[in-house]
Amino acid sequence: MEKERQVLVVFPHPDDEAFGVSGTIATHVQNGTPVTYACLTLGEMGRNMGNPPFTNRENLPKIRREELKAAAQALGIQDLRMLGYRDKTVEFEDEEALTNVMSDLISELNPSLVITFYPGYSVHPDHDATGAAVVRAVERIPAAARPKLHCVAFSNNCVQELGEADIINNITHVADKKLAAIQAHRSQTEQMFSDVEEKLKNQDPQIMVWINNERFWTYKFTN
Ligand SMILES: [Zn+2]
Repeated sequence: MEKERQVLVVFPHPDDEAFGVSGTIATHVQNGTPVTYACLTLGEMGRNMGNPPFTNRENLPKIRREELKAAAQALGIQDLRMLGYRDKTVEFEDEEALTNVMSDLISELNPSLVITFYPGYSVHPDHDATGAAVVRAVERIPAAARPKLHCVAFSNNCVQELGEADIINNITHVADKKLAAIQAHRSQTEQMFSDVEEKLKNQDPQIMVWINNERFWTYKFTN
């Protein structure tokens, strides 16, 4: 992985960073690169409250805030920003205002690399709206001065329409940190993690590929 000056990661939900990007984040941290993670919401509309329930609607944001902090700590992220938007409503935010928030972050941090969702290929409306705002903010910067923009995509049609991911980061050397980050989001991942853990123990080839490789599409600007 190339050494970056500063990395800015922007996602709408606590745990969006854990599955597809946390090994990449941990690697940049290990390389001595400052990483800022801007998380738009606290995922407070999440339906997963356990069975039997471990919390209620009122307390879920508090729990997810603590989980997010724990995940950031597991990855060594020093600069975690919680932007205070409401879960499941990012798509209804004023586009211009949201773009300006992203522009402000970029001018403050001057990242050499920005990571977000690929708008239109990220399944959840919050994901697409977040990615779109980041794309608009980067697009405003003159082409020669833009940071690299690496996007996560996972809709069924993403490979068909975008082609294969042009960046695949092997993160085997920090897989333990990635697993710790996934586990930190207990309220969301505990049930699935026991299943993953079993497969890890057995070195299930599919799960190993999934854990150890993180794929990104470099955003292609038209101007
Ligand atoms: Zn999400």
